[in-house]
Amino acid sequence: MNIDLIANFSYIVAALLFIVGLKMLGSPATARRGNWLSSVGMLVAVTAGLFNKGIITYDWIIVGMIVGAIIGATAARLVAMTSMPEMVALFNGFGGIASLLVGWAALFGVTTDFTVVTICLAMLIGGLTFTGSLVAFAKLSELINSKALVFPGQRFFNGLLLIAIIAIAVLFYMEPAVDSKFLYALIGLSLLLGIMAVIPIGGADMPVVISLLNSYSGIAACAAGFAINNNILIVAGSLVGASGIILTKIMCKAMNRSLANVLFSGFGAVKTGKAIEGVVKPINVEDAYYILEAATNVSFVPGYGMAVAQAQHVVKELGKILEANGCEVSYAIHPVAGRMPGHMNVLLAEADVPYEQLLEMDEINPRIETVDVAIVIGANDVVNPSARTDEDSPIYGMPIIDVDKARTVFVLKRSMASGFAGVPNPLFFGENTRMLFGDAKESISGVIAEFS
Ligand code: NDP
Repeated sequence: MNIDLIANFSYIVAALLFIVGLKMLGSPATARRGNWLSSVGMLVAVTAGLFNKGIITYDWIIVGMIVGAIIGATAARLVAMTSMPEMVALFNGFGGIASLLVGWAALFGVTTDFTVVTICLAMLIGGLTFTGSLVAFAKLSELINSKALVFPGQRFFNGLLLIAIIAIAVLFYMEPAVDSKFLYALIGLSLLLGIMAVIPIGGADMPVVISLLNSYSGIAACAAGFAINNNILIVAGSLVGASGIILTKIMCKAMNRSLANVLFSGFGAVKTGKAIEGVVKPINVEDAYYILEAATNVSFVPGYGMAVAQAQHVVKELGKILEANGCEVSYAIHPVAGRMPGHMNVLLAEADVPYEQLLEMDEINPRIETVDVAIVIGANDVVNPSARTDEDSPIYGMPIIDVDKARTVFVLKRSMASGFAGVPNPLFFGENTRMLFGDAKESISGVIAEFS
C-alpha cells in the first residue's frame, strides 16, 4: 500500500484519539483514560511521521528521541505535584522553540509565498512563547520576583515592538533567505516580545498566562505544520490552540476578570487592599474534634496548602470518619484553587475521594449557610471575603467560596501569611472563624487521632 496513504490514515486515527482524549479530560472520572488515549494518538502520529519520505537519515532523530525521552521521563517522575505549573510552563516554551526551529528549517525547502507567511508566524509566535514561558517559569519558581514589573511607557514600548516586528516580517517576506538579517531580527524581537509581554503580569496570574502560552504554542505548531505541509501538526496545533484559549477563558471567568485585565492591568503591583484589624481566635485539635464530633454537615475547602502538605489522603480519611459518625461530607472546589486548573480535583482523585462528593463553587455557595463546619485546608485567596467586600482589593470581584457564611470555619494553615495574590484575608479575624495553626497534614492527623 502507498506509504502516504498509510501516513494520512494514521494521522486521521491520531486526530480522532486526540479529540476523544480531550473530551474525556473534561471529567475527573474519565480524565486518566483521556490522557492515556491522547498519548496513544501522539505515538501513532509520531510513528506515522517517521515514515515521511523526506527523511534522509534517522540518526539525529533517534538521538533526539532518546535524549527527549530521558529528560521527559525523569522530569515527570521527579517533579513535585506543587511544581506542575512550572513544568507545564517549560513544556510550552519547548513547544514554542520547536515550532520556531521547524519554521526556520522549512526555509531550506521549496517555499511559496504562503509558506513564508506561515514560517514568519511560526517564528514569531514560537519565539514569544519560548521566552514568555521561561519568564512564567522563573516567576512561578521565584527565580525572579513574581510581582508584576511595570514601568512608565511600557505599553507604548510594547506597541512599538509589535509594529517593528510586523515591519521586519514584511521585509523578510519580500526577500526570504536562510541567513537574512531580517530573519535574525525577527527572531530576536519575537524573543524580546515574549519577555516584555509577561514581565508586567503578576505571579498570581501566571497560571492564566501559562494557559494562554499553551494556546500560543499550539498556534505556532499549527503554523509550522503549514510551513512543512504536515497535516497532523496542523490538526494537533489547532486543538492545542483552541483548547488553550478555552481554558484561558474559563480561568478568567473564574476570577471574574477579562483577559485584557489579566494581561495589561499589572495586577497586585499597585493595590494591596485595606488593612485588617481584629482578633484571631486559635483552636487546638482537641477542641476542633469536639466541634466536628457534633457536626452534621462538614465541607472541606482545599487550596494550595493542601498540595504543599500532601494532606489529601488524611483529609479523605477524616471525611470517612465523619461520615461514619453520621455527618454529611462534601469537598468544595474553587476552579482556581491551587496553582493550576483542576489541581484540587487531581489531588482528591489521587486519594480516591468519590467524585459525587466534589461540589463546584456554584453548587456549594447557595447551601453554605447549612454547613456546620467549613474546613479550609491551606486555601486563602479563594476564600477571601474581601473579593466580595473591599473595592480596593486587587481580587475584588473574583468569585470565592463563601466559607465565612458557614456556621463555623476552621482555617488550617501555618501562619497568618497571605496567599499567592499577597492580599490580607479578613476571614482569619471572622467571628465564626477558628485558626488551627500548623501543617495541614499534621493538624488533620491530630484530629483523626482524637476521633480514634
Ligand atoms: P493561596 O496561594 O491563596 O494560599 C495557600 C495557603 O496555603 C497559604 O496562605 C499558606 O499559608 C497555606 N499553606 C502553605 N503550605 C501549607 C501547609 N503545609 N499546611 C497548611 N497550609 C499551608 O491558595 P488558594 O488555593 O486559596 O488560591 C490559589 C491562588 O492561585 C489564587 O490567588 C489564584 O487566583 C491563583 N491562581 C490559580 C490558578 C489555578 O489554575 N489554580 C489560576 C490562576 C491563578 P501559610 O504559609 O501560613 O501556611
